[in-house]
Amino acid sequence: MIEAKLRSFVDQPSAGLLKIKKNLQEIKARAIFLDRDGVINKYPGDTKYVTSLKEFRFLPGAKKAIALLAKSGFKIFVISNQGGVNKGLFSADALAEITRKMLSDIEEAGGKVDGVYYCIHRQDENCSCRKPKAGLIHTAMTASPLDMKDSFFVGDTIRDIATAKSAGCKSILVFSGKEKAANSDKWEVRPDFTFDNLYKAAKFIHTFKEGQLK
Ligand SMILES: [Mg+2]
Ligand SMILES: [Zn+2]
Repeated sequence: MIEAKLRSFVDQPSAGLLKIKKNLQEIKARAIFLDRDGVINKYPGDTKYVTSLKEFRFLPGAKKAIALLAKSGFKIFVISNQGGVNKGLFSADALAEITRKMLSDIEEAGGKVDGVYYCIHRQDENCSCRKPKAGLIHTAMTASPLDMKDSFFVGDTIRDIATAKSAGCKSILVFSGKEKAANSDKWEVRPDFTFDNLYKAAKFIHTFKEGQLK
């Protein structure tokens, strides 16, 4: 009897419940998309890769920055090109080992990452996920609906800024990796904001009020 009642409740939820469910679906999270090399960890150099765990070094303040962003209520995703895998320079297992250690160190510092998305393809494979294409961001969005226009992409290259533009989110260029402020006359796309490093960007995002820049 109780079972039958429960079943009818589940099968025919009240209009009120349906409305709550619909409203919950319409609340979209804001996200911070982080490039990895040159933003979270030390930039390995042009055309170079972090090929093993021992080459992975957090940049100063990066873990603290992610902890601050996690507290701000943003979903946090790492979006990174790692074409060295399909070039045969390091294995998918090595990449997974680096990722596991990165995530556990971030969590130990009070941070949290909701997803890590890599493109492991070479440029000549012409995939749909290699930045500046927005494929990895679209994959992150299928997992949770995101409010793109109030989300941020933080990267250290102009390719990251182009990725932000194609995804429709705000772009932040940090000078802790490849790109330097002195090159700004050569940038094909302009970042919305620039900061020295992820921690300074995180402090800005933390105090950024919704709608402030519309
Ligand atoms: Mg980078
Ligand atoms: Zn790809």
